Amino acid sequence: MTRLAIISEIIDAKRDVFTGLSDKLWEKAEVAFTERASAELLCQALEEEGFRVERQAAGLETAFVGSYGSGHPVVAILGEFDALPGLSQRAGLSRPEPVVDGGNGHGCGHNLLGSGALAAAVAVKEYMQRTGLQGTVRYYGCPAEEYGSGKAYMARAGLFDDADLALSWHPYTAALVQNLSSLANYAVKFKFTGRSAHAAAGPHLGRSALDAVELMNVGVNYLREHMIPEARVHYAITDTGGTSPNVVQAYAEVSYLIRAPKQEQVTGLYSRVYDIAKGAALMTGTSVETEFEGAASSLIPNRTLGEVMHANLTAGGVPDYDADDLRYAEEIRATLSPEDVQAALYGMDPRTAMGLKDKAIADVIIPLYPVEPVMPGSTDVGDVSWVVPTAQCMTACWALGTALHTWQVVAQGTRPIAHKGMLQAAKAIAGTAVEALENPEVIAKAKAEHKERLQGQSYVPLIPEAQMPPRR
Ligand SMILES: [Zn+2]
Repeated sequence: MTRLAIISEIIDAKRDVFTGLSDKLWEKAEVAFTERASAELLCQALEEEGFRVERQAAGLETAFVGSYGSGHPVVAILGEFDALPGLSQRAGLSRPEPVVDGGNGHGCGHNLLGSGALAAAVAVKEYMQRTGLQGTVRYYGCPAEEYGSGKAYMARAGLFDDADLALSWHPYTAALVQNLSSLANYAVKFKFTGRSAHAAAGPHLGRSALDAVELMNVGVNYLREHMIPEARVHYAITDTGGTSPNVVQAYAEVSYLIRAPKQEQVTGLYSRVYDIAKGAALMTGTSVETEFEGAASSLIPNRTLGEVMHANLTAGGVPDYDADDLRYAEEIRATLSPEDVQAALYGMDPRTAMGLKDKAIADVIIPLYPVEPVMPGSTDVGDVSWVVPTAQCMTACWALGTALHTWQVVAQGTRPIAHKGMLQAAKAIAGTAVEALENPEVIAKAKAEHKERLQGQSYVPLIPEAQMPPRR
């Protein structure tokens, strides 16, 4: 039996355990740093499989690490399980309909991510048991990927320091290896304090914090012309200071996300944005304070591991889709715009993109990108990738063109297509892990490439020292 055939057999035998776990996570739909029930479900599943579980890793209530085996090589498999606010949605529909108005939903498919990564870790463990292969497999339960960058705290605490490679995946609308980079980001809230007053009788006595927020945003919008085009800055006014125009707003706040390809570009841009905030405070006679909300490093790709993962993903093949899968995917596809589909084909070679554009399900494995693009988004997998060679794949868990963070993702999250994509990813991850464990030269080459890519730089977390996540 080939390595991948053994892994497939192990995963298929426990298919219902993994898909059931994913569906339970989908139901819990807990957001950043509040994933208590979800984390416990995953911890218990690991313990039932004979993993030693350390809860509250890195001092984070919902982070944990499950280990099996001993000594090197150490394979880190990363799992996420946080949901998004405001995306509650009934399963299996092709129209938006929340379960709970304003409730949470798994709009990024992290229910699949968390359970699929666990399936991979279990498969590696059983493969080790069957074959006597030595080493350690660890499942890292990583909270708050969407908002708060759980992995950055875990990396800062040194949890990945002794790992030899890290593997993960993300549900998507096509199967590929993510050999790309991503933007570093910094999330911060600017809190302005002024003085309230009667807006008609004594406006000269007031100092408007809302004016400061507005002027800050205007200033940042002028900054855009003078920043690198790859950078992204976006904001949300999280407190306008009240609902009465008759009261000068004594307090207001605005939350910013600042992104750029390199760490130093993000820190440079942040200090310019902060200067603008101070300028806005000066102009309005208010004061400003900042509150750190999260930060993620850029992603360092690793072609060596990417190629091994791509070979495993390709060898595993595309799942069988039946008429029901296709029918539902067509229904979802009808709710998407041509631009949604175009965005899903981003970065693909023209031939693959042409072949896919009219399909409801992307039933191919996308070739490796010849040159790694910079993904215009951020992930806290970036922090892990600075410490240890890291590779990630994606699989088709939804109709082609389904955009992340939408009701369509939530609706499809417990359907057979999602389960099939999840198990496909689990097999590719486990196959890659076992291939690396069996071939020390793969790990040596991946580490040499990692060193070369860092060009002498070492990991400096963007999270301020001693900073812990905001309480939730
Ligand atoms: Zn995600």
